[in-house]
Amino acid sequence: LSSLATIPWSWAARTPDAPCLTYDGTTRSWREVYDRSRRVAQGLAASGRGPGERVLYLGRNRPEFFEILFGASLTGWVTVAVNWRLAPPELLFVIGNARPKVLFVTREFLEKLSPVRDKLTTVESVVVIGDDADGYEKWLTCWPARVPPVVTRDTDPAFMMYTSGTTGVPKAALFTGRALQATFGAADVLGVTRNSVVLAALPLFHAAGLNSALVALAAGAHCVLAADAKPRSMLELAQRHRVTTTMVVPAVLKALVAEDVDRYDLSSVDTIGYAGSPIDPELLRSCLRRFGCRFLQLYGMTETIGITALAPEDHVVEDEGGKLSSAGRPLPGVTLRVVDPVSGEEVAEGVVGEVWARTPTAMSEYWEAPQETAGVRTEDGFVRTGDAGFLRDGYLYLRDRLKDVIISGGENVYPGEVEHILFAHPGVADVAVIGTPSDEWGETVRAIVVRTESSASLTEGEVISYAKEFLAGYKCPTAVDFVSELPRNASGKVLKTSLRRRYLPDTT
Ligand code: AMP
Ligand code: MG
Repeated sequence: LSSLATIPWSWAARTPDAPCLTYDGTTRSWREVYDRSRRVAQGLAASGRGPGERVLYLGRNRPEFFEILFGASLTGWVTVAVNWRLAPPELLFVIGNARPKVLFVTREFLEKLSPVRDKLTTVESVVVIGDDADGYEKWLTCWPARVPPVVTRDTDPAFMMYTSGTTGVPKAALFTGRALQATFGAADVLGVTRNSVVLAALPLFHAAGLNSALVALAAGAHCVLAADAKPRSMLELAQRHRVTTTMVVPAVLKALVAEDVDRYDLSSVDTIGYAGSPIDPELLRSCLRRFGCRFLQLYGMTETIGITALAPEDHVVEDEGGKLSSAGRPLPGVTLRVVDPVSGEEVAEGVVGEVWARTPTAMSEYWEAPQETAGVRTEDGFVRTGDAGFLRDGYLYLRDRLKDVIISGGENVYPGEVEHILFAHPGVADVAVIGTPSDEWGETVRAIVVRTESSASLTEGEVISYAKEFLAGYKCPTAVDFVSELPRNASGKVLKTSLRRRYLPDTT
Protein backbone atom coordinates (compact mmCIF):
# COMPACT_ATOMS: atom_id res chain seq x y z
CA LEU A 1 0.00 0.00 0.00
CA SER A 2 1.08 3.57 -0.59
CA SER A 3 1.74 5.65 2.51
CA LEU A 4 -1.48 7.64 2.12
CA ALA A 5 -3.56 4.49 1.81
CA THR A 6 -1.79 3.05 4.83
CA ILE A 7 -3.30 5.74 7.07
CA PRO A 8 -6.95 4.59 7.10
CA TRP A 9 -5.96 0.94 6.69
CA SER A 10 -3.66 0.86 9.71
CA TRP A 11 -5.83 2.94 12.05
CA ALA A 12 -8.95 1.01 11.06
CA ALA A 13 -7.05 -2.08 12.18
CA ARG A 14 -5.66 -0.60 15.38
CA THR A 15 -8.43 1.70 16.65
CA PRO A 16 -11.49 0.95 14.48
CA ASP A 17 -14.00 2.72 16.71
CA ALA A 18 -11.90 5.77 17.55
CA PRO A 19 -13.12 9.04 16.00
CA CYS A 20 -11.37 9.93 12.76
CA LEU A 21 -13.21 12.84 11.17
CA THR A 22 -15.82 15.20 12.58
CA TYR A 23 -17.72 17.71 10.52
CA ASP A 24 -20.90 19.63 11.19
CA GLY A 25 -21.91 17.53 14.19
CA THR A 26 -21.23 14.15 12.55
CA THR A 27 -18.28 11.99 13.57
CA ARG A 28 -17.03 9.02 11.59
CA SER A 29 -14.79 6.35 13.05
CA TRP A 30 -11.67 4.99 11.41
CA ARG A 31 -13.61 1.88 10.41
CA GLU A 32 -16.22 3.99 8.61
CA VAL A 33 -13.67 6.22 6.91
CA TYR A 34 -11.71 3.21 5.68
CA ASP A 35 -14.93 1.59 4.48
CA ARG A 36 -15.92 4.71 2.55
CA SER A 37 -12.41 5.21 1.15
CA ARG A 38 -12.44 1.70 -0.27
CA ARG A 39 -15.79 2.41 -1.95
CA VAL A 40 -14.28 5.53 -3.52
CA ALA A 41 -11.35 3.42 -4.72
CA GLN A 42 -13.72 0.89 -6.30
CA GLY A 43 -15.75 3.64 -7.93
CA LEU A 44 -12.64 5.14 -9.51
CA ALA A 45 -11.20 1.78 -10.51
CA ALA A 46 -14.53 0.86 -12.16
CA SER A 47 -13.87 3.43 -14.86
CA GLY A 48 -11.28 0.94 -16.08
CA ARG A 49 -8.50 3.44 -15.97
CA GLY A 50 -5.19 2.80 -14.40
CA PRO A 51 -2.95 4.52 -11.92
CA GLY A 52 -1.93 8.08 -12.67
CA GLU A 53 -5.45 9.27 -13.58
CA ARG A 54 -6.57 12.42 -11.80
CA VAL A 55 -9.56 13.08 -9.63
CA LEU A 56 -10.40 16.62 -8.63
CA TYR A 57 -12.08 17.90 -5.47
CA LEU A 58 -13.78 21.29 -5.55
CA GLY A 59 -15.21 22.36 -2.23
CA ARG A 60 -14.57 23.78 1.19
CA ASN A 61 -13.13 21.55 3.89
CA ARG A 62 -15.29 18.46 4.26
CA PRO A 63 -14.54 14.87 5.36
CA GLU A 64 -15.23 13.59 1.85
CA PHE A 65 -11.97 15.26 0.81
CA PHE A 66 -10.04 12.65 2.81
CA GLU A 67 -12.22 9.74 1.70
CA ILE A 68 -11.40 10.74 -1.87
CA LEU A 69 -7.71 11.29 -1.15
CA PHE A 70 -7.41 7.92 0.60
CA GLY A 71 -9.61 6.17 -1.93
CA ALA A 72 -7.66 7.58 -4.85
CA SER A 73 -4.39 6.51 -3.29
CA LEU A 74 -5.75 2.98 -2.77
CA THR A 75 -6.10 2.71 -6.52
CA GLY A 76 -3.14 4.82 -7.61
CA TRP A 77 -5.05 7.89 -8.73
CA VAL A 78 -3.78 11.42 -8.15
CA THR A 79 -5.98 13.76 -6.13
CA VAL A 80 -6.05 17.35 -7.32
CA ALA A 81 -7.00 20.00 -4.79
CA VAL A 82 -8.20 23.31 -6.14
CA ASN A 83 -9.04 26.64 -4.60
CA TRP A 84 -12.82 27.12 -4.60
CA ARG A 85 -12.33 30.87 -4.65
CA LEU A 86 -11.25 30.72 -8.30
CA ALA A 87 -13.55 32.35 -10.83
CA PRO A 88 -15.13 30.12 -13.52
CA PRO A 89 -12.51 30.95 -16.20
CA GLU A 90 -9.72 30.17 -13.73
CA LEU A 91 -11.39 26.90 -12.80
CA LEU A 92 -11.64 26.09 -16.46
CA PHE A 93 -7.90 26.67 -16.80
CA VAL A 94 -7.07 24.44 -13.83
CA ILE A 95 -9.40 21.64 -14.88
CA GLY A 96 -8.10 21.85 -18.46
CA ASN A 97 -4.57 21.63 -17.10
CA ALA A 98 -5.12 18.72 -14.69
CA ARG A 99 -7.52 16.84 -17.03
CA PRO A 100 -9.32 14.88 -14.28
CA LYS A 101 -11.60 12.00 -15.27
CA VAL A 102 -13.75 12.34 -12.18
CA LEU A 103 -14.76 15.55 -10.50
CA PHE A 104 -16.16 15.76 -6.98
CA VAL A 105 -17.88 19.05 -6.31
CA THR A 106 -19.82 20.24 -3.29
CA ARG A 107 -23.35 21.41 -4.06
CA GLU A 108 -22.38 24.96 -3.23
CA PHE A 109 -19.97 25.21 -6.16
CA LEU A 110 -21.98 23.35 -8.76
CA GLU A 111 -23.34 26.62 -10.03
CA LYS A 112 -19.85 28.07 -10.39
CA LEU A 113 -19.07 25.24 -12.78
CA SER A 114 -22.16 25.59 -14.90
CA PRO A 115 -20.89 28.36 -17.21
CA VAL A 116 -17.91 26.19 -18.16
CA ARG A 117 -19.53 22.76 -17.79
CA ASP A 118 -19.59 22.12 -21.57
CA LYS A 119 -15.90 22.82 -21.88
CA LEU A 120 -14.78 20.24 -19.31
CA THR A 121 -14.09 17.68 -21.98
CA THR A 122 -11.94 15.25 -19.97
CA VAL A 123 -14.42 14.91 -17.13
CA GLU A 124 -16.39 11.69 -17.47
CA SER A 125 -18.33 11.90 -14.25
CA VAL A 126 -19.29 14.60 -11.82
CA VAL A 127 -20.24 13.49 -8.33
CA VAL A 128 -22.04 16.06 -6.21
CA ILE A 129 -21.30 16.20 -2.50
CA GLY A 130 -23.99 17.52 -0.20
CA ASP A 131 -25.94 16.73 2.91
CA ASP A 132 -28.74 15.15 0.88
CA ALA A 133 -28.91 11.43 0.22
CA ASP A 134 -28.35 11.43 -3.55
CA GLY A 135 -25.11 12.37 -5.23
CA TYR A 136 -22.00 11.23 -3.40
CA GLU A 137 -23.78 9.18 -0.71
CA LYS A 138 -25.71 7.26 -3.32
CA TRP A 139 -22.63 6.87 -5.48
CA LEU A 140 -20.74 5.32 -2.54
CA THR A 141 -23.38 2.63 -2.07
CA CYS A 142 -22.82 1.47 -5.66
CA TRP A 143 -19.37 0.16 -4.84
CA PRO A 144 -18.13 -2.60 -2.54
CA ALA A 145 -15.80 -1.74 0.32
CA ARG A 146 -12.89 -3.70 -1.10
CA VAL A 147 -9.41 -2.62 -2.03
CA PRO A 148 -9.05 -2.81 -5.83
CA PRO A 149 -6.31 -5.18 -7.01
CA VAL A 150 -3.88 -2.49 -8.13
CA VAL A 151 -0.20 -2.23 -7.35
CA THR A 152 0.55 1.25 -6.04
CA ARG A 153 4.03 2.51 -5.34
CA ASP A 154 5.18 5.26 -3.06
CA THR A 155 7.30 6.75 -5.79
CA ASP A 156 4.22 7.37 -7.95
CA PRO A 157 2.44 10.74 -7.99
CA ALA A 158 -0.31 10.87 -5.37
CA PHE A 159 -1.40 14.46 -4.96
CA MET A 160 -1.19 17.81 -6.63
CA MET A 161 -2.08 21.30 -5.53
CA TYR A 162 -1.93 24.56 -7.38
CA THR A 163 0.37 27.35 -6.28
CA SER A 164 -1.54 30.29 -4.94
CA GLY A 165 -0.90 32.26 -8.09
CA THR A 166 0.18 35.53 -6.51
CA THR A 167 2.40 35.55 -9.61
CA GLY A 168 1.27 34.66 -13.11
CA VAL A 169 -0.44 31.49 -14.26
CA PRO A 170 -1.14 28.83 -11.63
CA LYS A 171 1.07 25.74 -11.71
CA ALA A 172 0.48 22.48 -9.90
CA ALA A 173 3.07 21.01 -7.56
CA LEU A 174 3.06 17.23 -7.87
CA PHE A 175 3.85 15.05 -4.84
CA THR A 176 4.62 11.39 -4.47
CA GLY A 177 3.32 9.33 -1.57
CA ARG A 178 6.86 9.28 -0.24
CA ALA A 179 7.11 13.07 -0.11
CA LEU A 180 3.80 13.25 1.76
CA GLN A 181 4.93 10.56 4.12
CA ALA A 182 7.99 12.64 4.94
CA THR A 183 5.64 15.40 6.12
CA PHE A 184 4.15 13.14 8.78
CA GLY A 185 7.30 13.66 10.85
CA ALA A 186 5.92 17.10 11.71
CA ALA A 187 3.72 15.32 14.27
CA ASP A 188 6.62 15.50 16.71
CA VAL A 189 7.14 19.19 16.12
CA LEU A 190 3.42 19.89 16.49
CA GLY A 191 3.13 17.58 19.50
CA VAL A 192 0.38 15.52 17.83
CA THR A 193 -0.33 11.96 19.01
CA ARG A 194 -3.29 9.65 18.55
CA ASN A 195 -4.88 11.28 21.60
CA SER A 196 -4.86 14.71 19.98
CA VAL A 197 -7.91 16.48 18.62
CA VAL A 198 -6.84 18.64 15.72
CA LEU A 199 -8.99 21.44 14.37
CA ALA A 200 -8.39 21.77 10.62
CA ALA A 201 -9.74 25.11 9.49
CA LEU A 202 -7.20 26.20 6.89
CA PRO A 203 -8.07 25.31 3.30
CA LEU A 204 -7.04 21.78 2.37
CA PHE A 205 -5.96 22.97 -1.08
CA HIS A 206 -2.97 24.82 0.43
CA ALA A 207 0.14 23.27 1.91
CA ALA A 208 -0.37 24.35 5.53
CA GLY A 209 -3.99 23.20 5.71
CA LEU A 210 -3.44 19.87 4.01
CA ASN A 211 -0.23 19.17 5.87
CA SER A 212 -1.56 19.83 9.37
CA ALA A 213 -4.65 17.68 8.78
CA LEU A 214 -2.68 14.83 7.20
CA VAL A 215 -0.10 14.87 9.96
CA ALA A 216 -2.95 14.51 12.46
CA LEU A 217 -4.60 11.64 10.60
CA ALA A 218 -1.29 9.84 10.03
CA ALA A 219 -0.76 9.96 13.81
CA GLY A 220 -4.21 8.44 14.33
CA ALA A 221 -5.55 11.65 15.87
CA HIS A 222 -9.14 12.89 15.66
CA CYS A 223 -9.51 15.60 13.06
CA VAL A 224 -12.30 18.16 13.43
CA LEU A 225 -12.96 20.02 10.19
CA ALA A 226 -14.17 23.58 9.91
CA ALA A 227 -15.47 24.63 6.50
CA ASP A 228 -13.31 27.72 6.78
CA ALA A 229 -11.26 29.66 9.29
CA LYS A 230 -13.96 31.91 10.82
CA PRO A 231 -12.73 32.87 14.30
CA ARG A 232 -16.01 32.39 16.17
CA SER A 233 -16.80 29.00 14.74
CA MET A 234 -13.20 27.93 15.38
CA LEU A 235 -13.52 28.95 19.03
CA GLU A 236 -16.85 27.16 19.37
CA LEU A 237 -15.48 24.00 17.78
CA ALA A 238 -12.40 24.13 19.99
CA GLN A 239 -14.58 24.30 23.08
CA ARG A 240 -17.14 21.70 21.96
CA HIS A 241 -14.64 19.04 20.81
CA ARG A 242 -11.91 19.70 23.39
CA VAL A 243 -9.47 20.56 20.62
CA THR A 244 -5.79 20.22 21.52
CA THR A 245 -4.09 21.51 18.39
CA THR A 246 -4.80 23.78 15.47
CA MET A 247 -3.02 25.43 12.57
CA VAL A 248 -3.76 28.96 11.40
CA VAL A 249 -2.33 31.78 9.32
CA PRO A 250 -1.28 35.06 10.99
CA ALA A 251 -4.38 36.88 9.68
CA VAL A 252 -6.57 34.30 11.45
CA LEU A 253 -4.51 34.60 14.61
CA LYS A 254 -5.11 38.31 14.53
CA ALA A 255 -8.85 37.79 14.17
CA LEU A 256 -8.84 35.19 16.95
CA VAL A 257 -7.06 37.40 19.44
CA ALA A 258 -9.54 40.19 18.72
CA GLU A 259 -12.41 37.93 19.83
CA ASP A 260 -13.61 37.72 23.40
CA VAL A 261 -11.67 34.50 23.97
CA ASP A 262 -12.41 34.39 27.70
CA ARG A 263 -16.01 33.47 26.90
CA TYR A 264 -14.84 30.06 25.69
CA ASP A 265 -13.41 27.13 27.59
CA LEU A 266 -10.15 26.63 25.74
CA SER A 267 -8.44 24.66 28.50
CA SER A 268 -7.90 21.69 26.17
CA VAL A 269 -5.89 23.74 23.67
CA ASP A 270 -2.25 22.80 23.86
CA THR A 271 -0.57 24.03 20.66
CA ILE A 272 -1.41 26.63 18.06
CA GLY A 273 0.67 26.42 14.90
CA TYR A 274 0.81 29.21 12.36
CA ALA A 275 2.34 29.53 8.92
CA GLY A 276 1.89 31.08 5.53
CA SER A 277 2.96 34.70 5.84
CA PRO A 278 5.16 36.92 7.98
CA ILE A 279 3.85 37.64 11.45
CA ASP A 280 4.23 40.78 13.48
CA PRO A 281 6.13 39.99 16.73
CA GLU A 282 3.75 42.31 18.60
CA LEU A 283 0.80 40.20 17.49
CA LEU A 284 2.69 37.13 18.69
CA ARG A 285 3.29 38.72 22.07
CA SER A 286 -0.36 39.52 22.50
CA CYS A 287 -1.26 35.94 21.53
CA LEU A 288 1.23 34.58 24.05
CA ARG A 289 -0.41 36.69 26.75
CA ARG A 290 -3.98 35.91 25.68
CA PHE A 291 -3.78 32.13 25.07
CA GLY A 292 -1.96 30.11 27.69
CA CYS A 293 -0.68 27.53 25.24
CA ARG A 294 2.33 26.64 23.10
CA PHE A 295 2.88 28.38 19.77
CA LEU A 296 4.76 26.97 16.84
CA GLN A 297 5.67 28.70 13.61
CA LEU A 298 6.19 26.87 10.36
CA TYR A 299 7.74 28.37 7.27
CA GLY A 300 7.29 26.61 3.98
CA MET A 301 5.78 26.87 0.57
CA THR A 302 3.59 24.88 -1.80
CA GLU A 303 6.63 23.48 -3.60
CA THR A 304 8.49 22.26 -0.50
CA ILE A 305 5.86 21.97 2.25
CA GLY A 306 7.71 22.53 5.56
CA ILE A 307 11.14 24.21 5.61
CA THR A 308 11.76 25.65 9.09
CA ALA A 309 10.01 25.78 12.45
CA LEU A 310 10.22 28.23 15.32
CA ALA A 311 9.81 26.00 18.35
CA PRO A 312 7.47 26.69 21.29
CA GLU A 313 10.54 27.25 23.53
CA ASP A 314 11.48 30.22 21.35
CA HIS A 315 8.11 31.88 21.86
CA VAL A 316 8.78 34.05 24.89
CA VAL A 317 7.27 37.46 25.55
CA GLU A 318 10.56 38.89 26.88
CA ASP A 319 12.32 37.99 23.68
CA GLU A 320 15.79 39.45 24.13
CA GLY A 321 17.45 37.55 21.30
CA GLY A 322 14.83 38.69 18.78
CA LYS A 323 13.78 35.12 18.00
CA LEU A 324 10.15 36.13 17.67
CA SER A 325 11.03 37.80 14.40
CA SER A 326 12.69 34.62 13.12
CA ALA A 327 11.16 31.71 11.19
CA GLY A 328 13.19 29.26 13.28
CA ARG A 329 15.46 26.37 12.40
CA PRO A 330 15.38 23.77 9.61
CA LEU A 331 12.97 20.89 10.12
CA PRO A 332 14.49 17.39 10.34
CA GLY A 333 16.08 16.38 7.04
CA VAL A 334 16.08 19.93 5.63
CA THR A 335 19.20 21.69 4.35
CA LEU A 336 19.20 25.46 3.92
CA ARG A 337 21.38 27.65 1.80
CA VAL A 338 21.30 31.43 1.52
CA VAL A 339 22.75 32.55 -1.78
CA ASP A 340 23.46 35.66 -3.73
CA PRO A 341 20.59 35.63 -6.24
CA VAL A 342 22.84 36.74 -9.08
CA SER A 343 26.01 34.66 -8.61
CA GLY A 344 24.38 31.69 -6.89
CA GLU A 345 27.24 31.75 -4.33
CA GLU A 346 26.46 31.13 -0.69
CA VAL A 347 26.61 34.37 1.31
CA ALA A 348 28.10 34.87 4.78
CA GLU A 349 26.02 34.52 7.93
CA GLY A 350 23.94 37.63 8.56
CA VAL A 351 23.93 38.68 4.90
CA VAL A 352 20.57 38.76 3.11
CA GLY A 353 20.25 36.51 0.09
CA GLU A 354 17.79 34.15 -1.53
CA VAL A 355 16.76 31.19 0.62
CA TRP A 356 17.22 27.78 -1.00
CA ALA A 357 15.85 24.66 0.67
CA ARG A 358 16.35 20.96 0.11
CA THR A 359 13.54 19.08 1.82
CA PRO A 360 12.44 15.43 1.82
CA THR A 361 8.87 16.73 1.45
CA ALA A 362 9.46 18.65 -1.80
CA MET A 363 7.32 18.25 -4.90
CA SER A 364 8.77 16.06 -7.61
CA GLU A 365 7.97 18.64 -10.28
CA TYR A 366 5.44 21.12 -11.52
CA TRP A 367 2.81 19.15 -13.39
CA GLU A 368 3.65 19.12 -17.09
CA ALA A 369 5.84 22.20 -16.80
CA PRO A 370 9.50 21.14 -17.12
CA GLN A 371 10.71 24.65 -17.78
CA GLU A 372 9.07 26.06 -14.67
CA THR A 373 10.41 23.11 -12.68
CA ALA A 374 13.93 23.80 -13.92
CA GLY A 375 13.41 27.43 -12.97
CA VAL A 376 12.84 26.71 -9.27
CA ARG A 377 14.96 23.64 -8.73
CA THR A 378 18.73 23.37 -8.74
CA GLU A 379 20.63 20.35 -10.02
CA ASP A 380 21.42 19.21 -6.51
CA GLY A 381 17.79 19.25 -5.46
CA PHE A 382 17.36 22.63 -3.78
CA VAL A 383 14.23 24.68 -4.36
CA ARG A 384 14.75 28.38 -4.87
CA THR A 385 12.12 29.84 -2.56
CA GLY A 386 12.12 33.37 -3.94
CA ASP A 387 12.24 34.56 -0.34
CA ALA A 388 14.95 36.91 0.84
CA GLY A 389 16.45 36.15 4.24
CA PHE A 390 19.54 35.58 6.32
CA LEU A 391 20.82 33.08 8.86
CA ARG A 392 22.03 33.92 12.34
CA ASP A 393 23.00 31.27 14.91
CA GLY A 394 21.17 28.64 12.88
CA TYR A 395 17.93 30.65 12.82
CA LEU A 396 16.42 31.90 9.59
CA TYR A 397 15.19 35.48 9.39
CA LEU A 398 12.99 36.25 6.40
CA ARG A 399 12.98 39.57 4.63
CA ASP A 400 10.20 39.57 2.09
CA ARG A 401 9.75 37.98 -1.26
CA LEU A 402 12.65 38.87 -3.56
CA LYS A 403 10.26 40.21 -6.13
CA ASP A 404 8.62 42.46 -3.52
CA VAL A 405 11.87 44.14 -2.59
CA ILE A 406 11.67 47.80 -3.56
CA ILE A 407 14.68 49.36 -5.24
CA SER A 408 14.51 53.06 -4.68
CA GLY A 409 17.40 55.20 -5.87
CA GLY A 410 19.61 52.11 -5.90
CA GLU A 411 18.82 51.25 -2.27
CA ASN A 412 17.03 48.04 -1.37
CA VAL A 413 13.96 48.59 0.77
CA TYR A 414 12.39 45.57 2.44
CA PRO A 415 8.67 46.26 2.63
CA GLY A 416 8.35 44.05 5.72
CA GLU A 417 10.62 46.34 7.68
CA VAL A 418 8.54 49.39 6.81
CA GLU A 419 5.28 47.52 7.43
CA HIS A 420 6.55 46.46 10.82
CA ILE A 421 7.18 50.09 11.84
CA LEU A 422 3.87 51.39 10.51
CA PHE A 423 1.99 48.50 12.07
CA ALA A 424 3.10 49.73 15.48
CA HIS A 425 1.32 53.08 14.94
CA PRO A 426 -1.84 53.00 17.06
CA GLY A 427 -3.96 54.35 14.20
CA VAL A 428 -2.92 51.63 11.76
CA ALA A 429 -5.02 48.48 11.69
CA ASP A 430 -3.37 46.90 8.67
CA VAL A 431 -0.75 47.97 6.18
CA ALA A 432 1.00 46.87 3.01
CA VAL A 433 4.05 48.57 1.54
CA ILE A 434 4.83 48.35 -2.16
CA GLY A 435 7.09 50.00 -4.69
CA THR A 436 5.46 52.10 -7.37
CA PRO A 437 7.14 53.46 -10.48
CA SER A 438 8.92 56.79 -10.04
CA ASP A 439 10.72 58.85 -12.68
CA GLU A 440 13.12 60.12 -10.10
CA TRP A 441 13.96 57.00 -8.08
CA GLY A 442 12.99 54.09 -10.30
CA GLU A 443 10.63 53.02 -7.60
CA THR A 444 9.25 54.82 -4.64
CA VAL A 445 7.80 53.51 -1.40
CA ARG A 446 4.04 53.64 -1.03
CA ALA A 447 2.04 52.53 1.99
CA ILE A 448 -1.52 51.27 1.70
CA VAL A 449 -3.09 51.67 5.12
CA VAL A 450 -6.27 50.49 6.80
CA ARG A 451 -7.08 52.89 9.65
CA THR A 452 -8.34 51.60 13.00
CA GLU A 453 -11.94 52.42 13.81
CA SER A 454 -10.97 55.13 16.27
CA SER A 455 -8.51 56.84 13.94
CA ALA A 456 -10.63 57.92 11.03
CA SER A 457 -8.73 61.20 10.88
CA LEU A 458 -5.23 59.74 10.45
CA THR A 459 -3.55 61.58 7.57
CA GLU A 460 -0.87 60.83 5.00
CA GLY A 461 1.43 63.44 6.57
CA GLU A 462 1.11 61.86 10.01
CA VAL A 463 1.98 58.41 8.70
CA ILE A 464 5.02 59.72 6.80
CA SER A 465 6.39 61.71 9.69
CA TYR A 466 5.88 58.75 12.02
CA ALA A 467 7.91 56.57 9.65
CA LYS A 468 10.68 59.20 9.56
CA GLU A 469 11.16 58.90 13.31
CA PHE A 470 12.26 55.28 12.91
CA LEU A 471 13.49 54.74 9.38
CA ALA A 472 16.12 56.06 6.98
CA GLY A 473 14.65 58.55 4.56
CA TYR A 474 14.82 56.27 1.51
CA LYS A 475 12.73 53.65 3.33
CA CYS A 476 9.93 56.05 4.25
CA PRO A 477 6.74 56.13 2.23
CA THR A 478 6.47 59.06 -0.12
CA ALA A 479 2.75 58.44 -0.49
CA VAL A 480 0.07 56.87 1.65
CA ASP A 481 -3.31 55.60 0.53
CA PHE A 482 -6.13 54.68 2.84
CA VAL A 483 -8.36 51.72 2.07
CA SER A 484 -10.99 49.82 4.04
CA GLU A 485 -9.42 46.42 3.45
CA LEU A 486 -6.29 44.90 1.90
CA PRO A 487 -6.67 42.26 -0.81
CA ARG A 488 -5.54 38.90 0.61
CA ASN A 489 -5.57 35.37 -0.71
CA ALA A 490 -6.88 32.32 1.13
CA SER A 491 -3.68 31.84 3.10
CA GLY A 492 -3.73 35.42 4.29
CA LYS A 493 -1.02 36.79 2.00
CA VAL A 494 -1.47 40.33 0.77
CA LEU A 495 -1.80 40.26 -3.01
CA LYS A 496 1.01 42.68 -3.71
CA THR A 497 0.99 42.08 -7.44
CA SER A 498 -2.60 43.20 -7.62
CA LEU A 499 -1.89 46.20 -5.37
CA ARG A 500 1.06 47.21 -7.53
CA ARG A 501 -1.01 46.86 -10.68
CA ARG A 502 -3.21 49.73 -9.50
CA TYR A 503 -0.26 52.07 -9.75
CA LEU A 504 1.18 51.04 -13.08
CA PRO A 505 1.13 53.76 -15.72
CA ASP A 506 -1.95 53.51 -17.92
CA THR A 507 -0.87 51.70 -21.05
CA THR A 508 -4.17 51.76 -22.94
P1 AMP B 1 2.76 29.37 -1.03
O1 AMP B 1 3.64 28.86 -2.12
O2 AMP B 1 1.53 30.02 -1.50
O3 AMP B 1 2.51 28.30 -0.02
O4 AMP B 1 3.53 30.54 -0.27
C1 AMP B 1 4.83 30.34 0.21
C2 AMP B 1 5.37 31.65 0.68
O5 AMP B 1 4.68 32.11 1.85
C3 AMP B 1 6.80 31.56 1.11
O6 AMP B 1 7.67 31.59 0.01
C4 AMP B 1 6.92 32.78 2.01
O7 AMP B 1 7.07 33.95 1.25
C5 AMP B 1 5.56 32.85 2.69
N1 AMP B 1 5.59 32.22 4.02
C6 AMP B 1 5.17 30.98 4.37
N2 AMP B 1 5.37 30.75 5.69
C7 AMP B 1 5.93 31.87 6.19
C8 AMP B 1 6.40 32.26 7.51
N3 AMP B 1 6.31 31.45 8.56
N4 AMP B 1 6.94 33.50 7.62
C9 AMP B 1 7.05 34.32 6.57
N5 AMP B 1 6.63 34.02 5.33
C10 AMP B 1 6.08 32.81 5.13
MG1 MG C 1 4.31 30.17 -4.10
